[in-house]
Amino acid sequence: MTASDESSSNQDHAPAAEAIFRPPDRAALLGKRVAVLDKGWVELQDLMGDDLAIVNAARVSFLGESKGSEKDKKLLFYLMQHRHTSPFEQVEFKFRVRAPVVTWWQWVRHRTWQFNAQSGRYVAFDEDDFYVPDVWRKQSPSNKQASLGELTPEEGAPLTAALLEHYERGYRLYRQALDAGVAREQARIFLPGFAVYYTWVAKVDAHNLMHFLSLRMAEDAQYEIRVYAQTIYEHFFKPALPWTAEAFEKFILARLGG
Ligand SMILES: Cc1cc2nc3c(=O)[nH]c(=O)nc-3n(C[C@H](O)[C@H](O)[C@H](O)COP(=O)(O)OP(=O)(O)OC[C@H]3O[C@@H](n4cnc5c(N)ncnc54)[C@H](O)[C@@H]3O)c2cc1C
Repeated sequence: MTASDESSSNQDHAPAAEAIFRPPDRAALLGKRVAVLDKGWVELQDLMGDDLAIVNAARVSFLGESKGSEKDKKLLFYLMQHRHTSPFEQVEFKFRVRAPVVTWWQWVRHRTWQFNAQSGRYVAFDEDDFYVPDVWRKQSPSNKQASLGELTPEEGAPLTAALLEHYERGYRLYRQALDAGVAREQARIFLPGFAVYYTWVAKVDAHNLMHFLSLRMAEDAQYEIRVYAQTIYEHFFKPALPWTAEAFEKFILARLGG
């Protein structure tokens, strides 16, 4: 990026709303926990940086800093529009998340996050550590990876009852193995694996978080991860980085049809 890019009269990247930089309300965000699914949650543990940190990182190219909110916001929009991505890596989020394995299975594929997880070798699981869906989704006839529509509550009720029974039985066998002296690391093979809730700490920078959000908030993402991505976006990303969120919606999500 050059100084002339910044002063460009090209209005493509001009923000829609008036620009007033407001630093994120850290007191309101840090430690905030939002419930997801039946027993999961996302909590923001730490946050480094804000919209201005992104602008200032870009301006270090010519050893400059903030030039006032209007120009700052316009530059940030320019960066997003032209995929000048590295300044967005200057902002970092650290979350503590509780989610079922079916969600983690997909989340940990994102190699640009750093994770630390609860260990089923150290800590025994509780009876209530299993995901129970509200509704049963039907298999999509056209997309092998997707669901489309839902079973009626009457159709779903016996499945939910069967699932609870399955959890109860799995958990009973797990306890039985522990009581027989089997190690926690091995006894857990009795548990219904996709459904069990784990707690993780997960850190990521804003650029890679946007990549995650654009994939996992999309309609073709599985519901059980989409709700976590949407929670992160609405409750943490947008309040922490309002200019970046506005530019992300305009230049990235809109292009993806989101
Ligand atoms: C709807 C959907 C369906 C999916 N279905 C499947 C499936 O059936 N099977 C399956 O295995 N996976 C599946 N995935 C997972 C998918 O293939 C990716 O592993 C996952 O989305 C992470 O994306 P990513 O690699 O872009 O993200 P990250 O790992 O966070 O990487 C971000 C970007 O960094 C770069 N990068 C990171 N690490 C490397 C590296 N080592 N080498 C080169 N570039 C790197 C890449 O440009 C990458 O896009 C699915 C994902 C989605 C969203």
